[in-house]
Amino acid sequence: MKHIIRKPLREWKLDADAVSALENSGASILGKTISPKLADKFVGYLHTQDDKFIQTFPFTRNGNTYHIVEPHPVTLYFNGAQFFLKHLNERKTLLLMEIEKPIMGLDVRKQLDATYTFFSNFSMFATFLYNSLEAFVNYIIPEKFEFKVEGKRNTEIWNKDQIQRHFSTEKKLWEVLPIVFDRHIEEVKEKDFRKTILKLKDCRDEITHTKYGGDSHPNGYKKLFVMALEFDYNAALSAVAEIINFYEPNLIEECGCGVDH
Ligand SMILES: [Zn+2]
Repeated sequence: MKHIIRKPLREWKLDADAVSALENSGASILGKTISPKLADKFVGYLHTQDDKFIQTFPFTRNGNTYHIVEPHPVTLYFNGAQFFLKHLNERKTLLLMEIEKPIMGLDVRKQLDATYTFFSNFSMFATFLYNSLEAFVNYIIPEKFEFKVEGKRNTEIWNKDQIQRHFSTEKKLWEVLPIVFDRHIEEVKEKDFRKTILKLKDCRDEITHTKYGGDSHPNGYKKLFVMALEFDYNAALSAVAEIINFYEPNLIEECGCGVDH
């Protein structure tokens, strides 16, 4: 998969009427006239030459207020995962070359170097990819949405904030989103995705909350390293992209620029 388009959180294409309304409104380079003390009360927008209207957030440094285009966290994390995946594949190949050397020619230092670099890239990849999915499910649930759980004697109602805080990402993904959108991912595909996402979650959890499992066995962290080596990186990346695009078409969009950046 090529690198994706790095998108802002909010962006609109203005039509001719909107452009003239904007030009007649007198709105212009407000940033320069807003004092840093008040900057946080404003949301800045950029009007680009190709008539896009893009949301920014204010950032004050040395008494000056700047307007930073607010990135979309879902694409930001996904792009991060892609960045590390690029190095991960190379690093895995290098590590495998070290592992497969005959025992007499084995260079422990080189093998450890390769393991460290491979594993660092894997940790970043898995964490970013899972974060992308996690950010997506929280972002896409509408503000006013309520999730009802009907029991025998009563009905529980969860609002967006309660869902965000107390439901697992998997529950949001597989139980809440199909109700929000009244759409289901095709059964066979969903089964596959569930397996892939569960593996990704396992890896992410092992990385974030690394546990020592060595009381009964000296290889206390083997599980984590073996998972990293056996993980299907491309399947996980595609699954996350497909799930996101199922609910928000084209949010994850390959960039056609042809540059490897
Ligand atoms: Zn590009």
